[in-house]
Amino acid sequence: MDKGKEKEFIIDLNDEDFDYQYDSIVKTDSDEEAILVSDKIFNDLTVEDIWKMEFSSVEEAEEFYNLFAKVTGFSVRKDDVKRDKNQNIVSRRWVCSKEGYRHRVCLENENRKQEPKAVTRVGCEATFRIGFNKQMNKWVVKEFMADHNHPLVEQKNVQFLQSHRVIKNADKTQLNAMRGVGIGTSQIMDYMVQQSGGYNNVGFTKKDLYNHVDADSRVHLRDGDAEGALAYLCGKSEMDPSFYYKYNVDISIKRIFPDSYHRLCAWHIQRNAFTNVHVKDFTNHFSKCMFMEGTVEEFECAWNDMLEMFNLHGHKWVTDIYAKRSRWAEAYLRGHFFAGMKSTQRCESMNAYLNRFLKTRLKLFEFVKHFDRTLSRIRHNEAKAEFETHHSSAVLTTKLYALEKYAGTVFTRQSFLKFRDEMKNAELFFSVSTENHGGYRVHTLTKFRSPDKIWKVCYGNSDRSMKCTCMMFESVGFPCPHMIVVMKIEHLEEIPETCIMKRWSKLAKETVQVHHDNEIQGDATNIIRYGALSSMCSRMSYFASQSEKAFKEARCEIQRLTCQIEELCKNSVEESEREDLKATKHHVRDPIIVKTKGHHEPLYIGNFGSKFYYHNQ
Ligand SMILES: [Zn+2]
Ligand SMILES: [Zn+2]
Repeated sequence: MDKGKEKEFIIDLNDEDFDYQYDSIVKTDSDEEAILVSDKIFNDLTVEDIWKMEFSSVEEAEEFYNLFAKVTGFSVRKDDVKRDKNQNIVSRRWVCSKEGYRHRVCLENENRKQEPKAVTRVGCEATFRIGFNKQMNKWVVKEFMADHNHPLVEQKNVQFLQSHRVIKNADKTQLNAMRGVGIGTSQIMDYMVQQSGGYNNVGFTKKDLYNHVDADSRVHLRDGDAEGALAYLCGKSEMDPSFYYKYNVDISIKRIFPDSYHRLCAWHIQRNAFTNVHVKDFTNHFSKCMFMEGTVEEFECAWNDMLEMFNLHGHKWVTDIYAKRSRWAEAYLRGHFFAGMKSTQRCESMNAYLNRFLKTRLKLFEFVKHFDRTLSRIRHNEAKAEFETHHSSAVLTTKLYALEKYAGTVFTRQSFLKFRDEMKNAELFFSVSTENHGGYRVHTLTKFRSPDKIWKVCYGNSDRSMKCTCMMFESVGFPCPHMIVVMKIEHLEEIPETCIMKRWSKLAKETVQVHHDNEIQGDATNIIRYGALSSMCSRMSYFASQSEKAFKEARCEIQRLTCQIEELCKNSVEESEREDLKATKHHVRDPIIVKTKGHHEPLYIGNFGSKFYYHNQ
């Protein structure tokens, strides 16, 4: 056994789960199929089977164990390695990532500035070790412990485990290409999620993507490099109009083009108009001129009318701003791509952009698709938080160990942290008197250096119920610091049930049917098909980009195939449209149009969606 002194060194003092990257097994693209096949095999694998396995290399064994871990539901970490005198590896060990414990120095560090990383190590002993057998010229299994001392991770959450988050070569190539032209990592993640048909299938998280970008290229292209993004879009649009269209929405929705050189901020100009020209209604008319969609001649005409009307010929600010009209008047700016941005006011310009887009180009179902994707991202984040709550525990920092630990077991991670803040707050309060009233006790509390302030907490002996005069529990659903003081006085080791609002507890999810995998709904078949095709194409693109010959051949074939499929599609769409028309003509009404604040164009009901999109950034 290799357990011994070396073990001590494996524990990283600064970072509990040091990022274990499978750089040694760079997955080739054909591995994807291998994984699919092995998923089935793995389910039938017995402990005896594993003891009998042989490998031709350490990498192969590592890949095997990681796959095994993926199917089983845990994450793998590299453990020690032994070498002979020539520095050749003779033995290699892997352990479950929950092996060992965090170093005490790390847990007891009281000067930390940040919340310490959650504790994930629980001393699990699951192990896999191989050694080199010279006679066989093979690697054989020397140690295998299948049992874990902790719950295994459900398949839907395996995606969050460190060792199963691998960025494939094809994805890296695509990532680099997209970054190279200025597309933000966040957008790339969205794109990849869509391509693969959902978060579960991507195989890595946004953080992994950022890490890769950081490590791989030290070139920091600013997220939001408008020029680059535009160049990319233009290039793509020549090859594939639908691609252009998609990005058009994506990028525009999420990005503000910073410090635009070409265009002055409409919001600021309007504000200046208001402060510089003290004539009633001028700003209104000025804005109308600014946003009018007509030709340059029409603009000039309207402008002159306005000057007449308000008698502003020769007004300094008006003259100055007129000189710069090519940079703010819609009539002059038409035809230039600004993604609908007129001002630096993010929300307003987003609405403005969506207004126009929704009105002229985006069909409702397409809008819904974007909306849906946002929801899916929120749910993914939520799933991740839930996973963290269930598969790791927070570091305990107060002296009220039992209470804090209990809080850790009943509250979700976020709620736990909040509760702990209240525990710290509780230090300010203390009891000044206690009255017994048969079945319950009333504790009177006051606050350090505020002796005239009084709180009364009523505590029921039998059901351990609590009620405080501050009513904090009633309004926010959290035990108030006064209740915590009483928990102390009453020597409680558990938080009374009456002080736990189900909403903030781990049980919250159990009463609600949680909606996972919402991505695979509605247009499900189409989305799955699209995902499958996209990933096949991205593999092909990877190979095709390796040489000029391959590139040309691929391009030619794609064009041919596209024409062919388009034709096929047209025929079937026309058919189904004729039928749809018959069927739905009298049932579907136009979307309701509502007015939005700050903009004059009508907006479809999708407006809430655009805002939603935003707050989620
Ligand atoms: Zn384990
Ligand atoms: Zn209270």
